[in-house]
Amino acid sequence: MAPLTAPQAEQLKKQLQQQKAALWEDIRAELERSGNQKFADLAGEVRDPGEESVAAMLVDIDAAIVDRQVREIRDIEDALARIADGVYGACIDCGADIGVERLQAYPTALRCIRCQDQHEKTHGGEGNPTL
Ligand SMILES: [Zn+2]
Repeated sequence: MAPLTAPQAEQLKKQLQQQKAALWEDIRAELERSGNQKFADLAGEVRDPGEESVAAMLVDIDAAIVDRQVREIRDIEDALARIADGVYGACIDCGADIGVERLQAYPTALRCIRCQDQHEKTHGGEGNPTL
């Protein structure tokens, strides 16, 4: 599989940023619904938060309410950081190109399909941190 071209990376970056904005909107709405008006206001103010402020803010939020969104935002920020570092699109396990079609379907994918299968077999599903 060919590595990502610059325009493809740029396009995926836009896609990730849009997803992040949509998740922020989700978080804000969810917090409002659950009565966390203070954090809802905060989330409303932070339209394009940097990684630091997101991390700081999310620590304070009752994560259970917005757990899924928070995890997705973290995945997106990881992906954006990988784009910035120029390592986006390479499998974190074997280093092979993940492939543009897979990335377009799953912009936060960290592994090629083969390694992802292997990972899920080994770890029994998603959500295991790989630190
Ligand atoms: Zn791989």
